[in-house]
Formats: sequence, structure tokens, C-alpha cells
Amino acid sequence: MKTRFDGKKAFAHLSVLTEDIGPRHGSSRNEIKAAKYIYKHFKDLGLKPTYQDYPIYSFERAEATLTRPDGSEVPCEPFPMTARTPPQGVSGKVVFLEDAHEAFLDERLAGSIVVTFNNFNRTLYEEFLKFKPAGLVSIQSAHSQLHVASPWRLDLEREVQTLPSVCLTYKDGVALIHDLPETLTIRSKTFGEGWRVGKNVIADLAGTGPSDDVIIVCAHYDSVWIGPGAFDNGGGIAAIMELARVYREKGSKYNLRFCAFGGEEMGLWGSKGYVKSLQDLDKKARKTNTCEASQNRTELDRIRFVLNLDMVGMYHGRSNALVLGPSDIAASVRFLSNRLRYPIGIQEDKVYSSDNRYFNFLGIPSLSFNRCGFADGQGHTAGDTIDNCSPEGIAHISQFVESWIDEYLMALHRFPFKRALPTSSQQSVDKLLNGKTPFHAYDRAALLKQAKKK
Ligand SMILES: [Zn+2]
Repeated sequence: MKTRFDGKKAFAHLSVLTEDIGPRHGSSRNEIKAAKYIYKHFKDLGLKPTYQDYPIYSFERAEATLTRPDGSEVPCEPFPMTARTPPQGVSGKVVFLEDAHEAFLDERLAGSIVVTFNNFNRTLYEEFLKFKPAGLVSIQSAHSQLHVASPWRLDLEREVQTLPSVCLTYKDGVALIHDLPETLTIRSKTFGEGWRVGKNVIADLAGTGPSDDVIIVCAHYDSVWIGPGAFDNGGGIAAIMELARVYREKGSKYNLRFCAFGGEEMGLWGSKGYVKSLQDLDKKARKTNTCEASQNRTELDRIRFVLNLDMVGMYHGRSNALVLGPSDIAASVRFLSNRLRYPIGIQEDKVYSSDNRYFNFLGIPSLSFNRCGFADGQGHTAGDTIDNCSPEGIAHISQFVESWIDEYLMALHRFPFKRALPTSSQQSVDKLLNGKTPFHAYDRAALLKQAKKK
């Protein structure tokens, strides 16, 4: 099938995002810079982009040192949400846990600086905290020689992350273990921490057909705070920027809404804010009965389908499609894969952590594409650089996405997929919600107000 997606054009966007701008975690100065770059691209295409504010609990940067009793420093990186220590730091006797396993957790940990390898899960971490350690020195696993930003993601929740915590490369960690001092001192703090404002960038391309439905084409443009986020997800955002150009030129039967979401890595804050704003409007419209008179449909009702790109662009790799919705969607990918002889792994009913999630919670189906590579281990680290990506790597999956859009959205007389989740998908969603509402304890408007006060 003939496609117009240009890998070189997309790669140029990726280069600006990762090389010129660099790491861009939610609400940081660099994230705002990236938002402006994406906005300008949409505007240059003749679309009318808008910014949408989203609230996020975040910070601007963090600093830490790890010091031996003789005053020498061990190279380290702070966890993004490390706890603030007094200026002299916190010191304690060193306890080395070969493994973060419950068998190792006991009273020895009280007041100590714990040196261990990165392998907590949340339950174990909470158990660990009960023994009141004074600080954590976490060593990155052997397969990555890099500093890692968020090894198990607890560090991003202030209520849970109460410890001064630093991360070491495998090499520095092993050197420390081989010559373990009696005590260690951690000094750490974050700057600009609290509720902050981030930006989503949204651009509509009006459809030429009769349908009032809206198809969301989205990707997150933020990265973890320590890495430039090339394949996760500079490649995905570069792909939707280029897809916007392609469909601007060849036209679209449906209303396409290109959404560049921020704050994904720190907890899907951008897409959460966007979906919640739709739900808030929906509730208001129903209360005051101001739904668009013709069909009595709110903006939320119009959102028909979500196409998400997260993790794209690696030089070598393997393509995947993740479906949450009617099984026709998976079948459509399977047929096209067969016809084009394009190898792609298809997974159904998997509610993974990406921007489609809050749409799914409200019953909107999604299809997510990614292309994971052989350097996956670098994801969420300083090693997720543009060196692992190429124009061909971005075009590889993106041309398949373009073919899929042409075949299943543009060529058919009617939109082929129901706006509903089958029972199996619904069960995956419910399991994740664990009996709570999707926006449990989340008041977007109030949080935004609080964030803007500062
Ligand atoms: Zn991602």
C-alpha cells in the first residue's frame, strides 16, 4: 500500500525533542519547551492547536550526594522524588541487602543506610519502610550500566516515598559493595516540588465525511527526568506530528484529534487531566441539558476511538499492537499484517500504563502501537537516546499505522468498530480499578487552582 509517511521528517522532530531540548519530565521547563515546538508544528500545518493545562505533582530538579566517612563521594543520582535531608545530610550504619527480599527485613534496618539492588515491588517497599531505615542506596541491575530514573515508580508518590534515596550504576554499586564503609551519608533535596501546571497540545483536523465522531490520535511527549526519552516516547510524538502532516495533505474522512499528552511517565497526568475535563463538561451539560441539540451528544460522546503510539523508533525491533475493545480491532490488525506481510505481535485486553487508559475507563476502545527494540533495557534511563533510533525505525511502524488508518477508517463506508468494551476488556479495566471510580480522589479543577496559586 502506498504511504506518505516520511521517516526523515519524523526523525527531524525526534532530534529536536531529544538533542535540542533533552529530558522533559512533566511540568518541567523542558516539557514546556517541547509543548511549544509541537504547537508550532501543528500551527505551521494550518491546524488550530490549543494548549490545555493539566495538574501534576512534580518538581523541577533534584540533587543528591553520597559520602563515605572519609569525605570521599560515591557517584550517584537522586531518585526524582527523593526526600529532603537536613543540610548536613542523614548518616547511618550501612546495611547491605543482597536482595530486597522479605527474608532480609528486620530490626537491623532501623536508622541505617540500606544498600541494595533495585528490585522492590510496592508491597515489599512498604514493608521495608516499616523497619524505619534512614536512607536508601539502590544499585541498578547488571544489564544496564546506566543511572535509572524511576526503578519501581514508588519514588513518584510523595506519601510513599519518604526516604532520602539515591541510585548507583551497577559498576559504582559493585565497587561500593566490595569496599563497604561502616557508615554512609546521603544529602538530597528536590527543587520546585509541589502541584504544578503542565500542558497538553491538542490539534483538530476536521473530517470531510458526514460523521460527527472524533478519533483521538495521541502520544506522550514527556520523558523521565533523567533521560531524553528517544524511543519512549520522542519517536511516538514525532510519528503523530508526521501523521498530522500526512492527513492534513491527503485529507481525512473523520475528525482526527491529535493529542500530545504531557506528564505520562510520572503517572499519566496529561491524559488523565484531558479525559477528566471531558467528563466534567459532560456532567455539566447533562445537568443543564445543553447537549448539542441535534443529536443530544456531548463532547465526550463524540470520542469514538483512541489510537495511541507509545515507544516508537528503535532501529531494530519488533512491532506490537495492544487492543482494548471489540475483537474486530485485533482482527483488522491481523488481516492487514497478513496482507502486507508485516510482522506484528497482537495483544488483547491488556490495560497497560499508557495514555489510552483513562479513555478505556470511560468505555472508549483503543488501539496502541509500539515498536520495542533490542535496547529496551534502556527505557526510562539516560540510555534512551536517539542513537538507538533511525528514520527507518520510526517509519517502519508508522507506515503500517497509516495503512491501517487508510484501510479501516478512511476506506470503509461506516466506522467499523463499536464504541464499547467487551466483557473481557471490561474485566481487565475493573481489575485495575479495584472497586474505585476512575477518578478516585482526583479533582482536576481544584488541583489546577492550587498549582496556579504559586
Ligand atoms: Zn511511554
